[in-house]
Amino acid sequence: HADVAMFDAKESGKNQLRFYHDEQGSQRYERFSLVNDLRRALEKDEFRIFYQPQIDTRTGNVMGVEALLRWQHSEAGMISPAKFIPLAEEQGLIVPIGEWVLRESCRMGKIWHDQGMDFRIGVNIAGQQIMHESLMGTVQTALDESGIRPHLLDLEVTENFLLKQPEITIPKLHKFREMGLSLSMDDFGTGFSSLSYLKKLPINTLKIDQSFVRDIGSDPEGEAIVKAIIVLAKSLGLEALAEGVETSEQLSYLRTHGCHLIQGYYFSRPLPAEELPDFVMNQAVEISFE
Ligand code: C2E
Ligand code: MG
Ligand code: MG
Ligand code: MG
Repeated sequence: HADVAMFDAKESGKNQLRFYHDEQGSQRYERFSLVNDLRRALEKDEFRIFYQPQIDTRTGNVMGVEALLRWQHSEAGMISPAKFIPLAEEQGLIVPIGEWVLRESCRMGKIWHDQGMDFRIGVNIAGQQIMHESLMGTVQTALDESGIRPHLLDLEVTENFLLKQPEITIPKLHKFREMGLSLSMDDFGTGFSSLSYLKKLPINTLKIDQSFVRDIGSDPEGEAIVKAIIVLAKSLGLEALAEGVETSEQLSYLRTHGCHLIQGYYFSRPLPAEELPDFVMNQAVEISFE
């Protein structure tokens, strides 16, 4: 009875979501214009943000959460950001959507901080947002209206986009650091940046991409990349954070090699805002130390 939503751009020539579902044995077939629906999703209040805890395994505390966008489509159900974010970028919708994510994440962050939870909030920033002139003002507005302290906001950027037009992006990153924000390089290792750029980028954290983390225990070459990124981070004075950690084997490998910041299903899936405080309060005692 499970609904299956498939994104099918090639066949139809435009972006459409084909939606199949089984009703009392008969198969119905519907098409939605994903683009039109995406345009209206903000005003229809169909976006939700889930928050995935990031654990500092040295203390057992939640040191951060990553804000991950979800689209609750009225008919197709929950649509993954892997499907609609590229479309939003293509349609120029990522700027207003990204603005909403920033403001909403900061608003929630302030509520949690006022309750005594001092973790930082990581927000994904798409390439187009970085290139857009409005981003600086949007971030400032999100900080001002929420009252969240800037050092508790972490912007996650990816290397490919930064280096497409480094003369525009790198000065902006410096500006964000001057404002007190922290910066993470997302999906590190999957892009094409030259390592010499890394020392010019004012970032705080390298997020080791989950494709390498998945290799731990099965692919020695992937493991070698994980180790190399941890060493690289350390020698550049950056933090390494591993994402997509699912098993205790991956966890102990990472800790043994000096990566203590962990995000992944092993600790928690992304949680709706209302479930986060319980997790944060209980997490510290539940970690087992060697
Ligand atoms: P990302 O920023 O690299 O986020 C990490 C993704 O890995 C998330 O997928 C998260 O749910 C998933 N993940 C976390 N732990 C595990 C694990 O242990 N195992 C597995 N298999 N997956 C894990 P999600 O939420 O589907 O988001 C996918 C991508 O969509 C994100 O990748 C990010 O690039 C993009 N995205 C999500 N929200 C936003 C947003 O607000 N703005 C922008 N620009 N992009 C976003
Ligand atoms: Mg991310
Ligand atoms: Mg990532
Ligand atoms: Mg990713």
